[in-house]
Amino acid sequence: MKALIYQGPREVTVEEVPDARIERPTDVLVRVTSTNICGSDLHMYEGRTTLETGRVLGHENLGVVVEVGSGVDRVKTGDRVCLPFNVACGFCENCEAERTGFCLTVDSDTPGGAYGFAEMGTYAGGQAEFLRVPWGDFNCLVLPEDAQEKENDYVMLSDIFPTGYHATELAGVSPGESVVVYGAGPVGLMAAYSAALRGASQVLVVDHHPDRLALAEKAGAIPVDDTEGDHVEQILERTGGGADKGCECVGYQAHDADGHEKPESTMNDLVASVRATGAIGVVGVFLPQDDGAPTELTREGKLPFDFGDFWFKGQRIGTGQANVKTYNRQLRDLIHHDKAKPSFIVSHELPLDDAPEAYRNFDDRLSGWTKVILKP
Ligand code: NAD
Ligand code: ZN
Repeated sequence: MKALIYQGPREVTVEEVPDARIERPTDVLVRVTSTNICGSDLHMYEGRTTLETGRVLGHENLGVVVEVGSGVDRVKTGDRVCLPFNVACGFCENCEAERTGFCLTVDSDTPGGAYGFAEMGTYAGGQAEFLRVPWGDFNCLVLPEDAQEKENDYVMLSDIFPTGYHATELAGVSPGESVVVYGAGPVGLMAAYSAALRGASQVLVVDHHPDRLALAEKAGAIPVDDTEGDHVEQILERTGGGADKGCECVGYQAHDADGHEKPESTMNDLVASVRATGAIGVVGVFLPQDDGAPTELTREGKLPFDFGDFWFKGQRIGTGQANVKTYNRQLRDLIHHDKAKPSFIVSHELPLDDAPEAYRNFDDRLSGWTKVILKP
């Protein structure tokens, strides 16, 4: 089969590799029809993780079931399914508590598994023609009869829609509250969209890319351009002293607005923009610190954080990988009943062969390259 292979920092190629196949009785084999490029892929693409060369990338996958293992009861050949990026067993202590982003059964360096990811097991990614799905009965979200018609919406259930929603859940966004979202990338846009779905009275989104801020505005949010004056001041002014809740959807970024290296964090800005006793949900990824970093780039686990300001404001904070499965049946049904349309962020639909160019452009934050769906 054809698959997108990581060859080293900023180098990916489409190659012929052995077909994905059923390896265990509980596996399901999926023919991938949509697979997105994510901001999380860039941590690996830019070479600051332990990802080995030769690995297949891709954790935002949707497709058709073509084969099921002998131990699979629920999922059937021909089902159209979306796969949460978390690989989870369904029966460990964390999965039972709906914390599927932290599955304890998966064989990985950190709690939780994912397809095509460093630190989170050796599962192959889905930027390929076929994908092996472990514990298929648990991990396949079966889609309704409008699956093909709304494929570009449903594929967002694999990660960024539930992840954006998770940011608002970690922050505890309630109806009528004001919310500030840092980052207007795909995840930040989905956090803003989710805050609106949860009844926020005011959503502000901070970024410096005009095309992404325009999408935030299209979703009903107030765009805050951080190149135009002090963004914290702008937020304090508009919210009358600080937003009730905040979402961090930036994480480690290799570039600043001018393309220079800028390993900085938004955490102090969030503490300053959110009111005293407010809460912050952090879904932006900060990688574990490792002195044996494989490249010249620093792996950003440590960041400057003024804990004193945070403490005196009595704020709360929640972090981590999204537990996609916890939300995605409900989010699927919002899409099915035309109450949500996350595909508004899609900028490109491309064949797998175009993935190397798409990675380059998305990594460069080229204007107009917001969310790419590959169609193997
Ligand atoms: P992205 O990198 O395209 O988006 C980040 C956005 O933040 C960009 O538009 C960038 O211009 C903006 N930005 C950079 N510095 C900023 C600053 N100082 N203030 C405000 N905005 C700033 O990627 P994405 O796909 O939207 O992902 C965002 C983050 O979410 C990444 O770290 C990704 O790994 C993470 N993520 C986490 C989960 C999870 O489960 N927790 C899931 C998916 C993605
Ligand atoms: Zn993702």
